[in-house]
Amino acid sequence: TDVFLNGQFLPLAEANVSVLDRGFLFADGVYEVIPAYGGKLFRLQQHLDRLNSSLAAIRMKPVMSDQQWTKTLSQLVSPHTQSDQSVYVQVTRGAGTNRDHQLPTEYSATTFAMCQTIDPKSLDSIANGINAITLDDIRWDWCHIKSVALLGNILLKQQASDQGCTEAILLRDGFATEGSASNLFIVKDQQLITPPKSHHLLPGITRDLVLELAIKEGISCIEQEISEQQLFDADEIWLTSSTKEIMPVVKLNRQAVGNGQPGNLWQQVSTSYSQFKNQLRNQ
Ligand code: PLP
Repeated sequence: TDVFLNGQFLPLAEANVSVLDRGFLFADGVYEVIPAYGGKLFRLQQHLDRLNSSLAAIRMKPVMSDQQWTKTLSQLVSPHTQSDQSVYVQVTRGAGTNRDHQLPTEYSATTFAMCQTIDPKSLDSIANGINAITLDDIRWDWCHIKSVALLGNILLKQQASDQGCTEAILLRDGFATEGSASNLFIVKDQQLITPPKSHHLLPGITRDLVLELAIKEGISCIEQEISEQQLFDADEIWLTSSTKEIMPVVKLNRQAVGNGQPGNLWQQVSTSYSQFKNQLRNQ
């Protein structure tokens, strides 16, 4: 149950950070969530690449080499547990000597990582389909950075939850971009559509894998903006993320999506996703 903080493994209760940490004061930091199956980290290189692009986008240097990260994170995940795990990684610009908006010329980053269990029951219930609502995206314009400043995402998710929904699908200028904590796919006439990468959505690791697997399955895929109308007319809607995998949306704004059941293409790609996971687990 040890966590990793600034080069050391220590019990969670002993892992402390200064109240002057810029992560605490300004949400001046970035993060990653990396699943592990059978104790093996899933798509680790892609997560480390995204971590380093997030750091670069907020003008921070990489804090560790990929090799050091691999060693550190592998030590955190238990190879013995049967359950799926996820590793949370956070890097902030560290503590200054006072509270100052100005970026420090010198800083010592705060690097934190911990391991959690993925609840298999929650994945089982997601497979029955989830409800979603559309909401205007109130977040800032740099959604491609995996920033720890998640207040916008949190408040949007809570609005969905207040209405008995699992996720909010976000609209910007009449187009659906992503979920509050997930990427968006729709199926229309057997074609899979997801919005192209842009500053208005996070380049999801699961998104890329879902596209890869769908192409392997021979499904026609395009990266194209999704209008609000296309969303409402979709045969299937999926939301993807590392820990929730591929969520079939069966109700949008209280209306059934397609026939109100997880769709055929969802079934096909989600089976392929599970096989891909199991390959890693049994390696
Ligand atoms: N979009 C947002 C806003 C997210 O917070 C997340 C992940 O939590 C995703 C998309 C999905 O990204 P990934 O598939 O890399 O987990």
